[in-house]
Amino acid sequence: MKWPEKVSLARLPTLLHKLERFGVPDAPNIWLKRDDLTGFVCSGNKVRKLEFVLGEAVKQGVDRVVTCGGMQSNHCRATAFACAQLGLKAHLVLRDTGRQCTSGNYLLDQMAGADISLHPAKEYQARLSVLLESTAETYRDRGESVLIVPTGASDGLGVWGYAAAAFELLNDFEQCEISPRYVVCATGSGGTQAGLALGFAMAGADIEVIGIAVCDDELYFQQKVARDIADWQCRNPGLKLDAVPKYRTLDGYVGQGYAKPSDEELSVALEVARSEGVLLDPVYTGKAFRGLLCELRHKRFCDAEDIVFVHTGGGFGVFPFESDYRRLMSSAES
Ligand SMILES: *Cc1c(COP(=O)(O)O)cnc(C)c1O
Repeated sequence: MKWPEKVSLARLPTLLHKLERFGVPDAPNIWLKRDDLTGFVCSGNKVRKLEFVLGEAVKQGVDRVVTCGGMQSNHCRATAFACAQLGLKAHLVLRDTGRQCTSGNYLLDQMAGADISLHPAKEYQARLSVLLESTAETYRDRGESVLIVPTGASDGLGVWGYAAAAFELLNDFEQCEISPRYVVCATGSGGTQAGLALGFAMAGADIEVIGIAVCDDELYFQQKVARDIADWQCRNPGLKLDAVPKYRTLDGYVGQGYAKPSDEELSVALEVARSEGVLLDPVYTGKAFRGLLCELRHKRFCDAEDIVFVHTGGGFGVFPFESDYRRLMSSAES
């Protein structure tokens, strides 16, 4: 298999370790793939995808990368710092919901020197592709060459990042002498799930990738993941898969909605922080991890001794929720 050239941005391989104290009785051991430790300012899952996407940007010799996300987007923050590392300019098209804090990822975006345009949520949702294209056009008019990177760097190029991570995981499984049947991750734009499923299929490994949706629904992600894989196939017509990519999305844990964590979700993150010394984030991994616990309590995905949860990062996203964590901690004390 000929892999495209990537730029090195992530600290790889990341750790895989078993949770020692936290778990569900009579359920598989939970192992964490620590992709929250792929770096510091470039940490989380996006940087694995950006290694390939920005590899292409460097290959094309572009001056500027234009991408998009919410005001607290981990993807945008990782892109801003990765671009700074590579000497590229970045423009972030951000969705402004009006009530979000300017700390966390948004502060970091600005510190990394990214150009930013903020758009009201309604306009962003209705006109995202136009916004991206017109932003790119503004810079092209100034003589810059531009690469537009889609939401979450989830497309047929970005999926290489998690296809590579699947091979890394297979190596981890051998080292740790485990044979999990499921790898579970939070799903927000589908690229992580698509890449993992693709990588396991490339390797001929019988592992199903379970995405726990943090927005949208099952049908949306079944189609989105299929589309990312199809886009990959389109870009690499010579590459043949040994197996059919196995993936499934669960949409029962979106809860109050994207970036709207419930007290229960935040409490799980507090418990994991205190019992394992691991920080889950409120938007993605906290929600998805709680989903995994619920599934295990219902005896689903229990047909193996071990199960793997990919910790996809997001730590800077805790700060906008400071008051919620404080309220929960003080109510637990009283
Ligand atoms: C973006 C993100 C996800 C979701 O990954 P996708 O590939 O977009 O589905 C999960 N966790 C964190 C912390 C993220 O920032």
